[in-house]
Amino acid sequence: MKPKEAVRNLPIYQPGKSLDEVKQELGLTDVIKLASNENPFGCSPKVWEALSQERDALALYPDGDAPELRRALANHLGVTEERLIIGNGSDEVIQIISRTFLEAGDVVLVAERTFPRYKTQAIIEGATVIEVPLKKGKHDLEEMARKLNEKTKLVWLCNPNNPTGTIFTHEELVSFLQKVPEETIVVVDEAYYEYVADATFPDTLSLMAQFPQLILLRTFSKIYGLASFRVGYGIAHPEVIHELTRVREPFNVNRLAQRAAYSALQDQKFVQDCHQKNRAGLDLIYRKLDEWGCPYFHTQGNFVLIDTKLPAEEAYQFLLRKGVIVRSGQALGFPTYIRVTVGTPHQNQRFLESFEELLRFSKQVENK
Ligand SMILES: *Cc1c(COP(=O)(O)O)cnc(C)c1O
Repeated sequence: MKPKEAVRNLPIYQPGKSLDEVKQELGLTDVIKLASNENPFGCSPKVWEALSQERDALALYPDGDAPELRRALANHLGVTEERLIIGNGSDEVIQIISRTFLEAGDVVLVAERTFPRYKTQAIIEGATVIEVPLKKGKHDLEEMARKLNEKTKLVWLCNPNNPTGTIFTHEELVSFLQKVPEETIVVVDEAYYEYVADATFPDTLSLMAQFPQLILLRTFSKIYGLASFRVGYGIAHPEVIHELTRVREPFNVNRLAQRAAYSALQDQKFVQDCHQKNRAGLDLIYRKLDEWGCPYFHTQGNFVLIDTKLPAEEAYQFLLRKGVIVRSGQALGFPTYIRVTVGTPHQNQRFLESFEELLRFSKQVENK
């Protein structure tokens, strides 16, 4: 067996541990998962009601173009439907974009320490990946612009950035786009868009007319609470969408997922509530971390990257034994950090108590 050259040394994605795994392995009963930036409040109750309506249609293939969902999204965003592509999670849209545009020898530009799928998909297509280190946890757009040349086929920007939660501003994005050659596609991944509270955050949609090579990604996996259903989408120029659609699997988004996303979109009050609760959770977490003198990145997402000043695996294992699953920074390129998802008020309390114990244990705060 000989897989193609490009995939031979590709690392396999390591997901965070599941609740059941941790319960079984450590013999715990009360475990919370704050590792994958899922919505701790679940999803809108409208979704549960809508799903049963599909009961009699499950034997049928789904509508490949997801027309209802696209129409609703187009309406919600104020764009035409021909500017939308729906994916099996935005993960799939990342794959479709890479398959559509990349050939061996093409160059892809990404930040160094960002969402890993951009790089992985580029490698699978045989492209060369240039990584530009973050500057104070932020995309260094000026340095990224200096790295652009005629070979640069794709640029990936993650805003807010996962795992740091940092953003670049509208002005910074415009200034970057002005330096990008017309032939270079720029993808902005806004998976955490609905959590953002900073007024300087880009209005990326408004830039699409001026920069037709822009692709914008959003998802139903984060604030909409539908990670299990796998629905994400891309917004781009109709010609770009047309090309992407050639590559898309005909039935890539299943019937229940389309219905779930459609219903979740109708409940913007749920989204608003989750946004507010996330900000309140962050305020509490910041307050405690400041009190303990613990460094972290200010985030516009629903997660915080915290410097534990310990080997990340050690901090991760300590919290795991307390029944709190976080993400170790080791695999994220931050070897002394953990990334924790903002949970429910109860989960946040629980995390902070366990984290304080960790700091006492490592003598970073005084034992009472
Ligand atoms: C979670 C996440 C995604 C993946 O979203 P899916 O729609 O679940 O595939 C994409 N980009 C970033 C930055 C994420 O954090």
